[in-house]
Formats: sequence, structure tokens, C-alpha cells
Amino acid sequence: MSFCLLVQPIDEVGCRALRSAGLEPRLASAEDMTTVAREIPGAVAAITRNAGLSREAIAAAADLLVIGNHGTGYDPIDIPFATSQGIPVVHTPEANVQSVAELAVGLTLAAAKHLPAADRATRRGDFGFKYHAPIRELAGKTAGIIGFGRIGRLTAAIFKAAFGMRVLVYSPSADPAALRTAGFSKVDRLVELLAASDVVSLHVPLTPASKALIGEAELARLKPSAILINTSRGAVVDEPALIRALEQGKLAAAGLDVYANETMSPTHPLLQLENVILTPHIGGSSKEALERTARQVVDQVTAVLQGERPTHLVNPEVWHRRRHS
Ligand code: NAD
Repeated sequence: MSFCLLVQPIDEVGCRALRSAGLEPRLASAEDMTTVAREIPGAVAAITRNAGLSREAIAAAADLLVIGNHGTGYDPIDIPFATSQGIPVVHTPEANVQSVAELAVGLTLAAAKHLPAADRATRRGDFGFKYHAPIRELAGKTAGIIGFGRIGRLTAAIFKAAFGMRVLVYSPSADPAALRTAGFSKVDRLVELLAASDVVSLHVPLTPASKALIGEAELARLKPSAILINTSRGAVVDEPALIRALEQGKLAAAGLDVYANETMSPTHPLLQLENVILTPHIGGSSKEALERTARQVVDQVTAVLQGERPTHLVNPEVWHRRRHS
């Protein structure tokens, strides 16, 4: 039986779908790329999550016909190298939109209401917490959405519908008329959004243009009461600059699901800060999203193996010169 290497686990729904398509799902014994490169030879398909797939691993996979990215952000896969090798890469851009938008809103509420600190206060019997915690409402405040794609659009809609927030959008390719119809305002300059927003939520892919999009100069434009939410990619924010800004009170709080590096030592400065709420990259990891994502990635992978053009091809230029078995 041919096999599909799973760099990281996927929901059982996806494993069952692989077996029904005649592929054995084989989980790598570890997700580091040296192990993956050792275990990938013979695989006709590989499915990966945030670990991606390196050039070294792709080069070791002489029989590989398709790479599936479980999720939206495919930046950890070496797309140019996969393309040069004639390997289609597919992803699942719709499967976790709802979950990530819900997390962005959840982190915002957690920061505005100081929920982690309130929880800790309750556990130590500090019912006087309410006298000194600067708890705030979101109603009537301004949300600045950076990146108006699938997740940004839904997050903006929730902020508006749930809390009556005014929504500003910075996303150069977004259609101003469509934004107006949705009741949002487009801003042309990032600094304009940063200076006017009470909540800034990041929803851009990681590209050379978005790397460190929020750096020292941008953080300096935020209101001291602002909340910054990042559920996109860690490298979109200059992390050392964010740490300094949080220490100096240049913004009130941050809610982060993504980091410059996902292995943090216990002494990492972010872990020492009270005004930051941290989640371990859980945006797309609700039960519902995990099932949808696993099903979608397997559908795309098996479509490619059956010679059908998949719906979400990351490197369409490869299609007519793709590898064949
Ligand atoms: P999308 O492609 O639908 O939308 C991205 C939007 O950002 C587009 O409108 C694009 O025009 C805009 N954009 C691109 N570069 C920009 C820039 N430099 N400045 C301003 N706008 C820019 O993507 P999506 O589905 O909304 O997802 C956004 C990102 O969220 C993904 O790329 C991924 O990295 C991240 N994500 C994280 C999780 C998680 O678990 N935390 C899960 C899914 C996705």
C-alpha cells in the first residue's frame, strides 16, 4: 500500500479518508526535518502542519507527488523548491477561519477584561482585584483590522455585530466600495489605523512585505490604552520591540497566539510580562476546525493523486508539469 507521511498528527477523520483512498497514513516519529527527511522516502504524499516541509525533506522524497498543508499559512513549506521539483502544494484556506476569528475576539475580550489576572486573583482570594484592574468594554470602541482576507473579514464582522465597534481596515488590495457596504472604513496608511484603534488585530500572511510589519515605529503610534492581537504569524511583529513597548506601557496589552519561535525557554521575556496573554498556536485547533481541515487536506491530496486539479493549489504554475507516478 502506498503511504502518506504525516509530519504531525491530523484528525482521525482524515486518516480514515486516506485509508479509503488506498493510502496508509504514516505518522513521522518526530516532526524535525532531519527525522522527516529520513522517513519520507517512498511516500507519494506528505501532509504537514506548522512544521512545514524543508528543502532537505522534499529533496529526500523521490516519489512524492503532492504536499498537503493542513491549514492556511504555508510559509514553513519550501514552496519554490517544491515547485522546482514539479510537486503541487495544496492547502485548506477556509477550514479554520471561524476558529481563528473566534480566538482573535476571545483574546481581545480576555485582555479588555483582564481574565487571566482575574482568574489568578480569584484563586488567591483577592476579591479587591476589581478596585485596581482597569477593566474596559469594547462597545463603541475602534477595531483596526490589518489584512482583510478570510479571517480578517470575519473578525471585523464579529467586532461590529457583537460590540458595535467601528472598524478600520488596512489591507491595500481590499476593495473600498465592498468595505463601505460592509460598514467598515478603509485606511490607506498603516499609521493612521494604529493611531486611531483601541484594538489592533493582525490577519496578514507572512511574506517578505509583512515581516516585522509592526516594529518599533509602528508600536510607538499605538494609543497607550491599545490592545494588540496577533493570530497571524509571529514574525509579522518585531517581538523584541513588542516586549519593550509592553514593558514601557506604550500599549496596554497584547494577546498572542503566534511567536517568532515556538520553542520558548522558561526565561523568555514574554513569559515574565503581566500585560500579555499567550496561547500556544491554538487558533485553528478547535475540534470542528481540526475535523474540517483534516477532511479538506485529504480531499485535496487525493484529488491530485487522481489527476484532478485541486481547488486550493498554492503553486498553480506546476500543474501542467507536475510529477507523475
Ligand atoms: P487570506 O489570504 O484570506 O487573507 C490575507 C489578507 O492579508 C489578504 O486580504 C491580503 O491582501 C492581505 N495582506 C497581505 N499582505 C499584506 C500586507 N503586507 N499588509 C496588509 N495586508 C496584507 O488569509 P487568512 O485566511 O485570512 O489568514 C491570514 C493568516 O492567518 C494566514 O496567512 C496564517 O498565517 C494565519 N493563520 C493563523 C492560524 C492560527 O492558528 N493562529 C490559523 C490560520 C491562519
